[in-house]
Amino acid sequence: MSKKEYYPKRAMSIHAHPDDQEFTVAGTLARWVQSGCDVISVIVTSGEAGSNEPTRDADFKPELAKLREAEQSSANDELGIRETVFLHYPDGELEPSLNLRRELTRLIRKYRPEAVVIGDPQGLFYGNGYINHPDHRAAAQAALYAVFPSSETRLIFTELLDDGVEPHKVKRLYVHGSEKSDTWVNISTTISLKISALKKHASQLGNWDPEKMIREWAAEEGKEHCLKYAEAFKVMILSEEEDRG
Ligand SMILES: [Zn+2]
Repeated sequence: MSKKEYYPKRAMSIHAHPDDQEFTVAGTLARWVQSGCDVISVIVTSGEAGSNEPTRDADFKPELAKLREAEQSSANDELGIRETVFLHYPDGELEPSLNLRRELTRLIRKYRPEAVVIGDPQGLFYGNGYINHPDHRAAAQAALYAVFPSSETRLIFTELLDDGVEPHKVKRLYVHGSEKSDTWVNISTTISLKISALKKHASQLGNWDPEKMIREWAAEEGKEHCLKYAEAFKVMILSEEEDRG
Protein backbone atom coordinates (compact mmCIF):
# COMPACT_ATOMS: atom_id res chain seq x y z
CA MET A 1 0.00 0.00 0.00
CA SER A 2 1.42 3.37 -0.96
CA LYS A 3 2.11 5.63 2.02
CA LYS A 4 1.55 8.94 0.27
CA GLU A 5 -1.68 9.32 -1.61
CA TYR A 6 -1.32 9.12 -5.35
CA TYR A 7 -3.06 11.53 -7.71
CA PRO A 8 -2.54 11.11 -11.46
CA LYS A 9 -2.64 14.14 -13.73
CA ARG A 10 -4.71 12.27 -16.27
CA ALA A 11 -6.57 8.98 -15.92
CA MET A 12 -8.69 6.75 -18.11
CA SER A 13 -11.52 4.67 -16.65
CA ILE A 14 -12.55 1.74 -18.87
CA HIS A 15 -15.71 -0.31 -18.25
CA ALA A 16 -18.12 -2.55 -20.12
CA HIS A 17 -21.47 -0.92 -19.33
CA PRO A 18 -22.98 2.41 -18.33
CA ASP A 19 -23.17 2.25 -14.47
CA ASP A 20 -20.19 -0.12 -13.92
CA GLN A 21 -17.94 2.80 -13.12
CA GLU A 22 -20.43 4.29 -10.66
CA PHE A 23 -20.95 1.01 -8.79
CA THR A 24 -17.22 0.43 -8.42
CA VAL A 25 -14.63 3.22 -8.79
CA ALA A 26 -16.49 6.54 -8.99
CA GLY A 27 -15.44 7.68 -5.51
CA THR A 28 -11.79 7.40 -6.49
CA LEU A 29 -12.34 9.15 -9.82
CA ALA A 30 -14.19 12.01 -8.11
CA ARG A 31 -11.30 12.36 -5.64
CA TRP A 32 -8.80 12.50 -8.47
CA VAL A 33 -10.91 15.05 -10.37
CA GLN A 34 -10.97 17.24 -7.25
CA SER A 35 -7.16 17.12 -7.18
CA GLY A 36 -7.08 18.49 -10.74
CA CYS A 37 -6.94 15.20 -12.63
CA ASP A 38 -8.42 14.98 -16.10
CA VAL A 39 -10.48 11.79 -16.34
CA ILE A 40 -11.54 10.14 -19.59
CA SER A 41 -14.39 7.66 -19.21
CA VAL A 42 -14.53 4.88 -21.80
CA ILE A 43 -17.71 2.78 -21.98
CA VAL A 44 -17.34 -0.23 -24.25
CA THR A 45 -21.02 -1.18 -24.75
CA SER A 46 -24.03 1.08 -24.33
CA GLY A 47 -25.89 -1.31 -22.07
CA GLU A 48 -28.69 -1.86 -24.56
CA ALA A 49 -29.46 -5.34 -23.19
CA GLY A 50 -30.27 -3.92 -19.77
CA SER A 51 -34.02 -4.55 -19.72
CA ASN A 52 -36.14 -7.58 -18.90
CA GLU A 53 -39.48 -5.98 -19.59
CA PRO A 54 -41.64 -8.61 -21.32
CA THR A 55 -42.98 -6.11 -23.85
CA ARG A 56 -39.53 -5.21 -25.15
CA ASP A 57 -37.63 -6.79 -28.02
CA ALA A 58 -34.70 -6.02 -30.32
CA ASP A 59 -36.35 -2.83 -31.62
CA PHE A 60 -36.00 -1.28 -28.17
CA LYS A 61 -32.23 -1.69 -28.02
CA PRO A 62 -31.17 1.46 -29.94
CA GLU A 63 -33.52 3.53 -27.77
CA LEU A 64 -32.19 1.99 -24.57
CA ALA A 65 -28.61 2.52 -25.76
CA LYS A 66 -29.30 6.23 -26.23
CA LEU A 67 -30.98 6.51 -22.86
CA ARG A 68 -28.13 4.74 -21.10
CA GLU A 69 -25.50 6.85 -22.84
CA ALA A 70 -27.33 9.95 -21.65
CA GLU A 71 -27.44 8.54 -18.11
CA GLN A 72 -23.70 7.85 -18.24
CA SER A 73 -22.99 11.36 -19.47
CA SER A 74 -25.05 12.79 -16.58
CA ALA A 75 -23.20 10.56 -14.12
CA ASN A 76 -19.88 11.74 -15.51
CA ASP A 77 -21.01 15.37 -15.26
CA GLU A 78 -21.79 14.73 -11.60
CA LEU A 79 -18.28 13.35 -11.05
CA GLY A 80 -16.62 16.21 -12.93
CA ILE A 81 -15.51 13.97 -15.80
CA ARG A 82 -15.43 16.05 -18.94
CA GLU A 83 -14.77 13.45 -21.61
CA THR A 84 -16.82 10.30 -22.26
CA VAL A 85 -16.13 7.87 -25.11
CA PHE A 86 -18.70 5.24 -26.13
CA LEU A 87 -17.37 2.38 -28.25
CA HIS A 88 -20.77 0.80 -29.08
CA TYR A 89 -19.78 -2.85 -28.82
CA PRO A 90 -22.76 -5.22 -28.36
CA ASP A 91 -23.98 -5.48 -24.76
CA GLY A 92 -24.04 -9.03 -23.40
CA GLU A 93 -21.92 -10.36 -26.25
CA LEU A 94 -18.57 -8.74 -25.56
CA GLU A 95 -15.35 -10.64 -26.20
CA PRO A 96 -11.77 -9.67 -25.33
CA SER A 97 -11.03 -9.45 -29.04
CA LEU A 98 -8.02 -8.01 -30.80
CA ASN A 99 -10.30 -5.39 -32.35
CA LEU A 100 -11.35 -4.19 -28.92
CA ARG A 101 -7.76 -4.26 -27.69
CA ARG A 102 -6.72 -2.20 -30.72
CA GLU A 103 -9.48 0.36 -30.11
CA LEU A 104 -8.50 0.73 -26.47
CA THR A 105 -4.84 0.97 -27.44
CA ARG A 106 -5.74 3.75 -29.86
CA LEU A 107 -7.56 5.64 -27.08
CA ILE A 108 -4.74 5.19 -24.57
CA ARG A 109 -2.20 6.41 -27.10
CA LYS A 110 -4.43 9.34 -28.05
CA TYR A 111 -5.32 10.55 -24.55
CA ARG A 112 -2.03 9.47 -22.88
CA PRO A 113 -3.36 8.78 -19.35
CA GLU A 114 -0.91 8.40 -16.51
CA ALA A 115 -3.21 5.91 -14.77
CA VAL A 116 -5.83 3.51 -16.12
CA VAL A 117 -8.69 2.12 -14.00
CA ILE A 118 -10.34 -1.21 -14.88
CA GLY A 119 -12.20 -4.15 -13.35
CA ASP A 120 -10.54 -7.47 -12.61
CA PRO A 121 -10.31 -9.73 -15.68
CA GLN A 122 -9.87 -12.69 -13.32
CA GLY A 123 -13.04 -12.08 -11.31
CA LEU A 124 -15.41 -14.99 -11.98
CA PHE A 125 -17.36 -15.16 -8.72
CA TYR A 126 -18.14 -12.54 -6.06
CA GLY A 127 -19.38 -14.12 -2.86
CA ASN A 128 -21.92 -16.89 -3.34
CA GLY A 129 -24.54 -14.78 -5.05
CA TYR A 130 -22.98 -13.03 -8.03
CA ILE A 131 -21.40 -14.51 -11.15
CA ASN A 132 -19.36 -11.74 -12.72
CA HIS A 133 -20.84 -10.58 -16.02
CA PRO A 134 -18.69 -11.85 -18.92
CA ASP A 135 -18.69 -8.36 -20.48
CA HIS A 136 -16.95 -7.04 -17.36
CA ARG A 137 -14.19 -9.60 -17.69
CA ALA A 138 -13.88 -9.10 -21.45
CA ALA A 139 -13.56 -5.31 -21.16
CA ALA A 140 -11.07 -5.67 -18.33
CA GLN A 141 -8.94 -8.19 -20.20
CA ALA A 142 -8.85 -6.15 -23.40
CA ALA A 143 -8.00 -3.01 -21.40
CA LEU A 144 -5.33 -4.80 -19.38
CA TYR A 145 -3.45 -5.90 -22.49
CA ALA A 146 -4.04 -2.54 -24.19
CA VAL A 147 -2.22 -0.96 -21.24
CA PHE A 148 0.55 -3.53 -21.50
CA PRO A 149 2.06 -4.33 -23.90
CA SER A 150 0.07 -2.77 -26.75
CA SER A 151 0.07 0.93 -25.88
CA GLU A 152 3.76 1.22 -25.18
CA THR A 153 5.09 -1.12 -27.86
CA ARG A 154 5.64 0.64 -31.13
CA LEU A 155 5.44 -2.37 -33.41
CA ILE A 156 2.18 -3.75 -32.03
CA PHE A 157 -0.80 -2.52 -34.08
CA THR A 158 1.46 -0.65 -36.52
CA GLU A 159 -1.67 0.57 -38.33
CA LEU A 160 -2.03 3.00 -35.43
CA LEU A 161 1.33 4.52 -36.41
CA ASP A 162 -0.05 5.09 -39.89
CA ASP A 163 -2.83 7.10 -38.22
CA GLY A 164 -0.24 9.19 -36.41
CA VAL A 165 -0.89 7.65 -32.98
CA GLU A 166 2.41 7.29 -31.11
CA PRO A 167 3.15 4.77 -28.31
CA HIS A 168 2.44 5.74 -24.72
CA LYS A 169 3.46 4.15 -21.43
CA VAL A 170 0.82 4.03 -18.70
CA LYS A 171 2.43 4.44 -15.27
CA ARG A 172 -0.15 2.88 -13.00
CA LEU A 173 -2.97 0.41 -13.48
CA TYR A 174 -5.75 0.39 -10.87
CA VAL A 175 -7.67 -2.91 -10.85
CA HIS A 176 -10.94 -2.89 -8.94
CA GLY A 177 -12.63 -6.06 -7.67
CA SER A 178 -9.44 -8.01 -7.11
CA GLU A 179 -9.25 -10.58 -4.33
CA LYS A 180 -5.70 -9.34 -3.78
CA SER A 181 -6.31 -5.64 -3.24
CA ASP A 182 -3.29 -3.76 -1.92
CA THR A 183 -4.43 -0.12 -2.05
CA TRP A 184 -7.41 1.52 -0.35
CA VAL A 185 -8.48 4.92 -1.63
CA ASN A 186 -10.24 7.11 0.91
CA ILE A 187 -13.60 8.10 -0.59
CA SER A 188 -15.11 9.53 2.60
CA THR A 189 -15.39 12.98 1.02
CA THR A 190 -16.64 11.75 -2.36
CA ILE A 191 -19.01 8.91 -1.50
CA SER A 192 -22.00 11.26 -1.77
CA LEU A 193 -20.92 12.17 -5.29
CA LYS A 194 -20.51 8.47 -6.10
CA ILE A 195 -24.07 7.83 -4.94
CA SER A 196 -25.56 10.80 -6.76
CA ALA A 197 -23.72 9.79 -9.95
CA LEU A 198 -24.98 6.21 -9.59
CA LYS A 199 -28.53 7.51 -9.21
CA LYS A 200 -28.29 9.00 -12.71
CA HIS A 201 -28.66 5.44 -14.03
CA ALA A 202 -32.38 5.53 -13.39
CA SER A 203 -33.25 3.01 -16.12
CA GLN A 204 -31.34 0.37 -14.16
CA LEU A 205 -32.26 1.30 -10.60
CA GLY A 206 -36.03 1.61 -10.93
CA ASN A 207 -37.34 2.51 -7.49
CA TRP A 208 -34.36 1.05 -5.68
CA ASP A 209 -32.18 3.48 -3.72
CA PRO A 210 -28.59 2.20 -3.82
CA GLU A 211 -27.29 4.49 -1.08
CA LYS A 212 -27.40 2.02 1.81
CA MET A 213 -25.63 -0.72 -0.14
CA ILE A 214 -22.93 1.59 -1.51
CA ARG A 215 -22.22 2.96 1.97
CA GLU A 216 -22.07 -0.57 3.41
CA TRP A 217 -19.68 -1.78 0.71
CA ALA A 218 -17.41 1.23 1.15
CA ALA A 219 -17.45 0.96 4.95
CA GLU A 220 -16.53 -2.72 4.68
CA GLU A 221 -13.60 -1.90 2.36
CA GLY A 222 -12.36 0.83 4.67
CA LYS A 223 -12.80 -0.70 8.09
CA GLU A 224 -9.41 -2.41 8.43
CA HIS A 225 -7.61 0.62 7.05
CA CYS A 226 -8.95 3.31 9.38
CA LEU A 227 -11.09 4.78 6.62
CA LYS A 228 -14.77 5.49 6.98
CA TYR A 229 -15.36 4.76 3.31
CA ALA A 230 -12.94 3.28 0.77
CA GLU A 231 -12.58 1.70 -2.63
CA ALA A 232 -10.05 -1.13 -2.90
CA PHE A 233 -7.66 -1.81 -5.76
CA LYS A 234 -4.78 -3.93 -6.81
CA VAL A 235 -2.32 -1.40 -8.22
CA MET A 236 0.31 -2.25 -10.78
CA ILE A 237 3.12 0.31 -10.81
CA LEU A 238 4.53 0.13 -14.32
CA SER A 239 6.75 3.20 -14.02
CA GLU A 240 7.77 5.35 -11.03
CA GLU A 241 8.60 8.35 -13.22
CA GLU A 242 6.86 11.69 -12.79
CA ASP A 243 4.68 10.58 -9.91
CA ARG A 244 3.51 13.53 -7.88
CA GLY A 245 3.21 11.21 -4.86
ZN1 LIG B 1 -22.04 -4.09 -15.90
